[in-house]
This record gives sequence, structure tokens and C-alpha cells, in this order.
Amino acid sequence: MQHTRIPTRAADPLDSPPSWRRVVRQSERHFLGFDAEPLDDRLRNAGWSTEPTDRVCPRCARTVGAFGADEDGCADCRGTRPAWNRVVRLGVYEGVLGEIVRDVKFNRFRTLGARIGSMLGDQLRSRLVETGLDPAAIAIVPLPMSRRRYLERGIDHALTISRGLRTATGGTIVRILSRYHGPTQLAVPASDRRSNVSKVFRVRNSVRPPRSVSCWVIVDDVRTTGASLQSAARVLRKYLESKAQDTEADLAWRAPIWGGIVASADEP
Ligand SMILES: [Zn+2]
Repeated sequence: MQHTRIPTRAADPLDSPPSWRRVVRQSERHFLGFDAEPLDDRLRNAGWSTEPTDRVCPRCARTVGAFGADEDGCADCRGTRPAWNRVVRLGVYEGVLGEIVRDVKFNRFRTLGARIGSMLGDQLRSRLVETGLDPAAIAIVPLPMSRRRYLERGIDHALTISRGLRTATGGTIVRILSRYHGPTQLAVPASDRRSNVSKVFRVRNSVRPPRSVSCWVIVDDVRTTGASLQSAARVLRKYLESKAQDTEADLAWRAPIWGGIVASADEP
């Protein structure tokens, strides 16, 4: 199986002028089309298919049994107050989906990341339309990684997935969050993950969102305890609420916050 790498200049359009963004989008479509077959084959050969949505909690995206969740959540999240309104996932972090997530993150398969992001985008688009939210007006917020982690890994996996999600939904990537460097969540025990990420995210005040946003979607590859997503959503929620008080007319500040994750690794 071949993976075509998007050229580094085009794959990392940080601070790039608008014309570059257009080039990036065009090459994205080109490469997504080019590489569509291998991912489809890989999933089909592994017997993977899109999961039925009635077995997933719409609020926290955990796997539940039949009738195990309603709009208020499931046994795990009912009664809690997550900073997000909803989480959409593609599947469970196991088997071929787990391999794909690891290939993107550790083997730097950018095209694969964009393609799986596009599949997540298809799921997300359906859920947004059901809820009456315009998929083309979403603000896509990649869960940020620190600069140091980016240099270590050589890929910003959440941004890569977000690019595919943008292609599928027509939304806009808004990199409004940044992250201080700290131990990776993989390196700390589950019980310490909440405190590990409680203060690492912050809002980049220089980033201006589109004037009208239907929904803010924070994107990541895997959700385990949900500590990172919760921490990022809380920071964004607080910021949006403070802005909503100042500027009555601006719709962007009042939009709900959703999470979009490729896979959830449900931990007890
Ligand atoms: Zn739940």
C-alpha cells in the first residue's frame, strides 16, 4: 500500500497567506481522491463498517447497550456537566481503526489522516444536519499540540484529521487554542490525566473566528478519559461566554461546542 505525502510546505500552512490556503485545499482534494481506495480497502478487508449510532452515547460518545442512552446521556455521563454539548466519533479504538490512528500519529501518514478525518466529517455532517446546524458554518478547532511535541513527532495529527473534516463539511479551521508543553497523556496514569492537562490550553486572542459559526468542533484522534477534550472545551467555553457578553450581535460566540474524535478508547 502506498501513501503519498503532501509536500511539507503545503501541509503546514501556519501563518500562510490566503493564496496558499487555496493551494492547500486544492491539493487536499487531489490527494484525498488519489488515496481514497487504499483506506476503503483497508477498512473493508478488516470487516469494519460504520457503527449504528444507537449504540453510542450522543453526549459523551461512549459505547452503550440498546436503549443505554438518551439526549441526557448515558449511565457514565448523566448528571455530569461536560463543557461540550455533544461528542461524535467514528468508532472504537481497536482493530483496524486503532492501527490507522497509530499510523497517522506515529508513522506520519498525512494522507491517511486526512482521509479518516473526511470519514469523521461525513458522520459529523449527518449529526449536525439532524440537529439543525449548518455543517458548512462550523468552526473546526484541532486539539492543539505543543510546538515541542510537533517537532518530536513531525506531524500535527489533529490538524491533519481536521483538514479532511474540512473537506467533508465545508467548515473552517480556526486554530484558536494553543497548548503549553507538558507530559503526553500517554505517559501519565489515567487518574492523573485530568490534572496533567487542566492548565495547558489557552485561547489565542489574535485569532478571529468567522462572524457566524453554527458550531465549534474540537477535533482529536482518540478520546480515552476525555480529560484533554474536557479541558480544551472548558477554556473555549469560558472564552466564548466572555465574548458573548461584550458583543451581542456576533453569532460566533453563542454557538454550541461539540467534540469530534476518530476513536474512543472507553476506560472504566
Ligand atoms: Zn454518555
